[in-house]
Amino acid sequence: MSGQSRAGFEYFGPMATTVLKKKSLGLVDTNVEPAVTPPPAPPEGGTSFAKKPKITSKSRKRDIPEGLWTKCPRCSAMIFDKELDENLKVCPTCNHHFTIGARERIHSLVETCTFEEMDAEMISVDVLGFTGAASYKDKLNSNWRKTNLKDAVVTGIGQIGPHRVALGVMDFSFLGGSMGSVVGEKLTRLIERGTEKNLPVIIISTSGGARMYEGMFSLMQMAKTCAALAYHAQAKLPYVSILTNPDYAGVMASYASVGDLILAEPGALIGFAGPRVIKDTTQAELPPGFQTAEFLLDHGLIDAIVPRKEMKARLIEYLDYLTTGLSARAAKKA
Ligand SMILES: [Zn+2]
Repeated sequence: MSGQSRAGFEYFGPMATTVLKKKSLGLVDTNVEPAVTPPPAPPEGGTSFAKKPKITSKSRKRDIPEGLWTKCPRCSAMIFDKELDENLKVCPTCNHHFTIGARERIHSLVETCTFEEMDAEMISVDVLGFTGAASYKDKLNSNWRKTNLKDAVVTGIGQIGPHRVALGVMDFSFLGGSMGSVVGEKLTRLIERGTEKNLPVIIISTSGGARMYEGMFSLMQMAKTCAALAYHAQAKLPYVSILTNPDYAGVMASYASVGDLILAEPGALIGFAGPRVIKDTTQAELPPGFQTAEFLLDHGLIDAIVPRKEMKARLIEYLDYLTTGLSARAAKKA
């Protein structure tokens, strides 16, 4: 089936699953500022880019080139951007993990020239005709220009060490990593490709939640991705979910939390509703470290915290265990 127009996005390649094609739901509320729900908690010590290092009143501004330095939000160290890039966007002083783009992350994990991207041209359409402070179309346009991405996830097949894997990586810079039809569909196709080719699936997520510009179409993605993962699990193939800062709401309530192995980066904030919402609702003081990766490791939600620089080596190690006998089974199947 190709050339078929589908709800929520435009794509003219082969179809993966059947979805609703109903165009109008009458859900447009022109007075509401569109947002991801629940509102994403501000990443604790999230990215904060300073133009230049701290300078004394005596030093002259023109001595320090702009855009070359980043201030660490945790330890206030001024880090040379080149050094930060080489260190995979991790503060060399205090180990704070800055937000990293999907493509940089893929580059840090897969072997050179092995990543075959899938559905690179799939884009969202404004199914609901959403208008608010800015229309969905305007938001999409500005994010396409700003991020050089087509949507909040990049998917494809690549090689990590000796393992061929189906890899999906989300990017927070595109509309807060919100999950709309494109994110859901691209991940679903990735998982289905993984099932078909007997590959482990790895999804690295960061998200503020479902994309409310797309109303129920974004919520449907939760069920769709999880259904695809259920088939993948039925084929006895491993799924590794990696949670990065921040990871909230609809994404955490669906594919991000159902990994056979759930890893997280240090200090990542992870949850369903944000801490402020929970505090206001329960009227109770939240325990220290609430919703951090470390807190969730102590409470059993995640299996391990893996620093970004160790991620590739640790993934290879885990995949060695998880894929024992997989190639023999694939050969038998063929
Ligand atoms: Zn630092």
